[in-house]
Amino acid sequence: MTGKPQRSVTGTTRRLTPDGAGIETAARLLAEGGLVALPTETVYGLAADARQDHAVARIFEAKGRPRFNPLIIHVADLAGVGRYARLTPEAERLARAFWPGPLTLVLPLLPEAGLSPLVTAGNDSVAVRVPAHPVAQALLRRFGGPLAAPSANPSGRVSPTRATHVLDGLDGRIEAVIDGGEAAVGVESTIVGLLEAPLLLRPGGLALEDLEAALGRAIPAPAADPARPVAPGQLSSHYAPRAEMRLATRPAAGEAWLGFGPQDAGATLNLSPAGDLTEAAANLFHYMREIDTGPGTVIAVSPIPESGLGRAINDRLRRAAAPRPVTDPFGRSA
Ligand code: AMP
Ligand code: MG
Repeated sequence: MTGKPQRSVTGTTRRLTPDGAGIETAARLLAEGGLVALPTETVYGLAADARQDHAVARIFEAKGRPRFNPLIIHVADLAGVGRYARLTPEAERLARAFWPGPLTLVLPLLPEAGLSPLVTAGNDSVAVRVPAHPVAQALLRRFGGPLAAPSANPSGRVSPTRATHVLDGLDGRIEAVIDGGEAAVGVESTIVGLLEAPLLLRPGGLALEDLEAALGRAIPAPAADPARPVAPGQLSSHYAPRAEMRLATRPAAGEAWLGFGPQDAGATLNLSPAGDLTEAAANLFHYMREIDTGPGTVIAVSPIPESGLGRAINDRLRRAAAPRPVTDPFGRSA
């Protein structure tokens, strides 16, 4: 919304340390309208000042992300949320139970919020999260404003859980990445819509069971509505490796095998030899990259229980295995 200085793609992406000097540089780049990838506990995010139209537009450009897909804003604390969104009683309840943490709430947008309309795709609702990662917290406090931040990867591809993953996809397209090590949760935030009755808009790093227990009621997934445009996170093909991926109980000859649990001892990589879903979520995107030897190969993935973080893992795996669009925004063939 503001006429701040306009930056465009620099060609050089700086690698910043997660200390005071790195945070200071990142905050300055963001204030100038730059793009900075930052570690959060879920995955690395690609941040821009959510109040600057041009900066937010550059997120879509750098990722090749369709413009109709709204972005999550990140703020340091609950008081920050209250500047942009109306906190309903159910929102307060979930916020007190789970923030900071891997939970995003979709809430009514305050008319005076001052966010770029690109953030909300023109909706009168806004998706908000208070991340727990100490580096994300430090940057939000130093920056002092809302950061729009989707995952720091080309649209449709596997989300980054390390700084090197960010550079693999976006080097030269963004100003900087803060290297904060491995993302602990490993899958994106759980998104709950609280505009009317609560809805599970995306399974993620916070288990549905825990949310329902805190709220004292069921949180169903929305009924499919073909009239509503789908957001990329909800598109059938997403999180796609370059190799073909299929869900199977056993691999066929010549296929790579992404296993889960003690019975998959022969797997190429095992998401959790102990069968632990939290460990599997943390390993998921890193292993999907590691096992991906490129087009022409096939990755077979073992079944994961549909409970706890298994819901988020299965959601990502189903989308990774879904038929691909013919071309993607970066011109690679499907
Ligand atoms: P991501 O694609 O990981 O950046 O997550 C953003 C997702 O949050 C989008 O794909 C939407 O599904 C959801 N979202 C963001 N803002 C809104 C909003 N205002 N209303 C409904 N859903 C939203
Ligand atoms: Mg994403």
